[in-house]
Amino acid sequence: METYKDLFLNSFTDYGNYLWQEITQPAWDNYFYWLVGLSLLVFALEIWLPWRKDQKLLRKDFWLDLFYLFFNFFLFSLVGYNAISNIGVRIFTDGLNSIGIDNIIALEVQTLPVWSQLLIMFVIADFIQWNIHRLLHRVPWLWEFHKVHHSVKEMGFAAQFRFHFMETIVYKTLQYAPLAMIGFGIQQFFIVHMIGVFIGHLNHANLNWDYGPFKYILNNPKMHLWHHARELPKGYKYGMNYGLSLSIWDYLFGTAHVPYHDANLELGFPGDEDFPEDLGKQMLAPFKPTKKWDA
Ligand SMILES: [Zn+2]
Ligand SMILES: [Zn+2]
Repeated sequence: METYKDLFLNSFTDYGNYLWQEITQPAWDNYFYWLVGLSLLVFALEIWLPWRKDQKLLRKDFWLDLFYLFFNFFLFSLVGYNAISNIGVRIFTDGLNSIGIDNIIALEVQTLPVWSQLLIMFVIADFIQWNIHRLLHRVPWLWEFHKVHHSVKEMGFAAQFRFHFMETIVYKTLQYAPLAMIGFGIQQFFIVHMIGVFIGHLNHANLNWDYGPFKYILNNPKMHLWHHARELPKGYKYGMNYGLSLSIWDYLFGTAHVPYHDANLELGFPGDEDFPEDLGKQMLAPFKPTKKWDA
C-alpha cells in the first residue's frame, strides 16, 4: 500500500503525465481541447454579438484572465491540488475504514439510466455550489479570497476562471463528501464539469442573453452581471444571484435580483481601486487583508 508520501509524490508525476497526454493526444473525452474549444466558441459569440459594443475585444485584463483560465483549470492541479486532494480523499476513506465503515454510499444511483444519473449529479452539485458561493460572500475571511473573482471590471468569458486557488480547495472539499455519499464516480464528472464550464463561460460573456423563460432555471449573462455589481442594492447586504449553472436556487430562496438591464453596470466591489492588478499580488492579497496595495 502506498504511503501518504508516495501518494503525494506520485500525484505530481501522474498528473504531469496525464496533462502531457491530454495535450498530445486529442480525443473526445479530453479536458484540454474541450476547454480550448468551448473558450473559442464563446469568444466567437462575443465577437459576433457583443452586448457592450464599445468594449475592446481584448478587454481590460483579457490576458490575465486567460492565464487564470489555464492556471485554475490545469496548472494549479498540476502543481499541487491533485496531490493534496488525493491525500484528502485517502485520509477521508482511511478515517472511515478505521471506524469500521467501508461504504458511505447512502443513495444508490448506479441502477438508474446514465442520463438521469448525470442530471441528478448536475443538480445536486450545483445546489451545493450555490450554498458554498453564499458562504464565500458571508464569511469575512472567505470573502477576502472571493474578492479576486469580484475584482473583474470589464466582463468577458475568461473572467469565469479569475478566482483564488483557495476557492478550488473550499469548493472541492465541501463537495466531495456529499457527492461520494451518493455514489457518483469520476467518469460521470467529465460531462457535468464541461457543461458547467460552458454555462459559466456564457454567464461571464459580453452577451445580451437571458434565455427568455428559461432564465428562471438557467443562470445567464444578464443575471450574473448583477452578481458582479459594485454597489449592492438595498436589502442585499452580502450579494445576490449566487447561482453558478442554475438560477433556480436564487428564485426559490429569494436571492434573485435583476431590477433592470444595464450593459455598462459598474462592476467590482467598494474599495476595489486599492485591489492589486497582477496575479501574484492577487494571490497574496487575502492573506494580508488590511494592507493597502499600490495598484
Ligand atoms: Zn460571488
Ligand atoms: Zn462571476
